[in-house]
Amino acid sequence: MRRALIVGGSLGGLFAGCMLMRAGWDVLIIERTGGRLEARGAGLGVHASMLQGLLAAGARVDAGVGVPIAGRAVLGRDGAVVAEIAMPQLCTSWARLYTLLSDVFPEERVRRGAALVAVEQDAAGVTARLADGSSLRADVLVAADGVRSTVRAQLAPQTAFVYAGYIAWRGLAEERDFSPRTHAALFHRFAFALPEGEQMLAYPVPGEADDVAPGRRRYNFVWYRPVEAQRALPAMLTDADGRVHQGGIPPQAIRPDVLGALYRDAEALLCPAFAETVRIVEQPLFQPIGDLESPQMAFGRVALLGDAAFVARPHVAMGAIKAGQDAIALAAALSDAPVEAALRHYDAARRPASAALVAESRRLGAYLEGTLGRIARDPVKLMRENGGVQHSTVDGGLFVRLLAQAGYP
Ligand SMILES: Cc1cc2nc3c(=O)[nH]c(=O)nc-3n(C[C@H](O)[C@H](O)[C@H](O)COP(=O)(O)OP(=O)(O)OC[C@H]3O[C@@H](n4cnc5c(N)ncnc54)[C@H](O)[C@@H]3O)c2cc1C
Repeated sequence: MRRALIVGGSLGGLFAGCMLMRAGWDVLIIERTGGRLEARGAGLGVHASMLQGLLAAGARVDAGVGVPIAGRAVLGRDGAVVAEIAMPQLCTSWARLYTLLSDVFPEERVRRGAALVAVEQDAAGVTARLADGSSLRADVLVAADGVRSTVRAQLAPQTAFVYAGYIAWRGLAEERDFSPRTHAALFHRFAFALPEGEQMLAYPVPGEADDVAPGRRRYNFVWYRPVEAQRALPAMLTDADGRVHQGGIPPQAIRPDVLGALYRDAEALLCPAFAETVRIVEQPLFQPIGDLESPQMAFGRVALLGDAAFVARPHVAMGAIKAGQDAIALAAALSDAPVEAALRHYDAARRPASAALVAESRRLGAYLEGTLGRIARDPVKLMRENGGVQHSTVDGGLFVRLLAQAGYP
């Protein structure tokens, strides 16, 4: 049996692991983190292409995959609806997808607390060197080790994440903590606000233990804000002990004064409902937004997948979907060709699509970079373009059926 070694047990690694296992591969996932991964407080939109990935992975998908909503609205500073569109969709969370995929992939095929430090390959196979001094051998190695990929750093060291000049504050608010007034204004919809040069968006997602029952859901917000790169960003990434977290600061290390500024700005710039949403989130976090594009997705017997290969800004809402699409293409390529030829096919199939996605996300986020000056934004166009529902039947019509079940035929 051919053996696949997957580095990284997050969504990309699980998508690839499930699909290769179903295709008859002997799969082992190594994951640096010791225990089960915890969601980093953010939501995701469900699209047909996401369901296609979940189905290809063998996941059991039903109406519990997300929270159904009827449409979108842009709210003004006073909370009045500036523009509104119907756009039925389901919204979910990273945690929900992680559960769906983890339920399929056998836990005994995951080695937790195992970190890859180097990779070597020869004509017969590929060898992964681990941090504990041991090594593993396989026919193919799939690097699903994220934006700071160790594998990519070795094989394409010139590739770097390029900060775009703005950050995303994110957080999950518990449904039970909303005032009745704010709940009525926001919870049933995907809502936006457009302060000058910024963008706020928020939508309901499953709650604790993936619960989609009313009262137990959460509301996910993402607030894009320009932050200057040389001084302001490093200052925000510095914890109370003076340590700078270049690659991203853990939520609990964000200084109180940085959080204080967030709450003050929310009161000053957002409508009361959005300001309340920011205020009631227990642990807001922020991440620098940027782009990453690998020159290749295949290096002999090594494939880069998901965020390890390309990172598109969240405006296209495709991070998890892209990882699923990569996995579909990889499993298909490996089904009918020797490994190196298969990975060349994979590269040819996925690299142009990924580069196009990065370009589109860059276009959508350009006005947040703070370099275009004041530009008028068409609220309806913005709502349609940012993570808008794409009609497609790649999932055999499941997306449409789930919406119909939720009362949105
Ligand atoms: C814990 C976690 C929580 C997240 N929560 C959210 C969220 O709430 N919302 C959202 O939109 N996105 C979230 N993301 C990001 C999201 O998963 C990705 O943007 C996207 O789905 C593509 O995933 P990926 O598997 O390619 O990369 P990632 O999700 O970044 O996963 C990479 C994995 O590789 C592991 N790894 C890295 N280096 C090594 C190594 N050398 N050896 C072994 N393992 C290694 C990491 O520990 C990690 O689990 C989260 C990611 C993680 C890891």
